[in-house]
Amino acid sequence: ETAINRIAAGEVVERPASAVKELVENALDAGARRIEVTIAGGGAGLIRVVDDGSGISAEDLPLALARHATSKIDGTNLTDIHSFGFRGEALASLAAVGRLSLTTRTEGEEAVCISAEGGRIGPVKPAALRRGTIVELRDLFYATPARLKFLRSERAEAQAVGDVIRRLAMAEPGVAFRLCDARDGDERVIFRVEAEQGDLFDALHARLAAVMGRDFAENAIDLDAEREGLHLTGLAALPTYSRGSATHQYLFVNNRPVRDKLLIGALRAGYADCLAPGRYPAAALYLACPAEAVDVNVHPAKAEVRFREPGVARGLVVSALRHALAGAGH
Ligand code: ADP
Ligand code: MG
Repeated sequence: ETAINRIAAGEVVERPASAVKELVENALDAGARRIEVTIAGGGAGLIRVVDDGSGISAEDLPLALARHATSKIDGTNLTDIHSFGFRGEALASLAAVGRLSLTTRTEGEEAVCISAEGGRIGPVKPAALRRGTIVELRDLFYATPARLKFLRSERAEAQAVGDVIRRLAMAEPGVAFRLCDARDGDERVIFRVEAEQGDLFDALHARLAAVMGRDFAENAIDLDAEREGLHLTGLAALPTYSRGSATHQYLFVNNRPVRDKLLIGALRAGYADCLAPGRYPAAALYLACPAEAVDVNVHPAKAEVRFREPGVARGLVVSALRHALAGAGH
């Protein structure tokens, strides 16, 4: 049972950054407006996620750590992409691969905590907390040294964590995020954004400027195009603001950060006529579509999606980019 849990857990939790992604997505699902993440040792030593969301009631707490126990999917909406998460596996997986403790408080209840180690879940105990949830994960992969060995340097793992937070911050402009690196009792802020104000458009622009840089935001074109129920928004850099690598390309499907070959290919094709070889456009593209038009649960840890009509998605991105670039004189 524990061994099976550990193997399954490895599917969901590949490295500290994937644990952070699951925990922050849970905080977002719980309606958090402020999410603070602290890591130590690249996340392998410690990941702490503090949120001001709805919390978990004492009654539901043991269940939250059990495999396939999710409050978010009732069996009728397996393709519902409005909520993150892979069918109630994340917390159980994390509890199987590290030492997990969770402190939480819902409105109108006292705070409670629970801890788990190597898949063994302890009792629910009273705790002290004003609101929201704190999840602490220590010694990730201590029970699976093989996986621990595959982690890259602390720096590389911390960078991957930062990348996850940046992407989620770009998807949620109304939420404040902070990422700290704890070292020798010292906490260094690696990344911080405050909740953006204003309507969706203004908030997104402000957030993209905060995360991708003011330079990018000032040298980018607005996208707003629709095709067969698919809606594309976002910012795409002017060709004069191209990059020497593809690291500044951010893609979102129904507000979920994805890495999708089809969309990356479409982005490249949209710029084909105005970028020199070896140059890459910086862009943040947001594609919104009906739940049934896309499958986001292709793999729990990989941010892949599968479009029902790939040609429509690709065509929309390519033509919207060409149109916007032509309009800007390129
Ligand atoms: P899933 O997100 O797919 O439901 P998880 O294992 O990630 O599965 O979480 C299990 C359950 O624990 C969630 O359905 C939710 O009810 C609860 N939960 C987890 N994290 C939080 C949080 N930060 N705030 C409130 N509830 C949470
Ligand atoms: Mg989840």
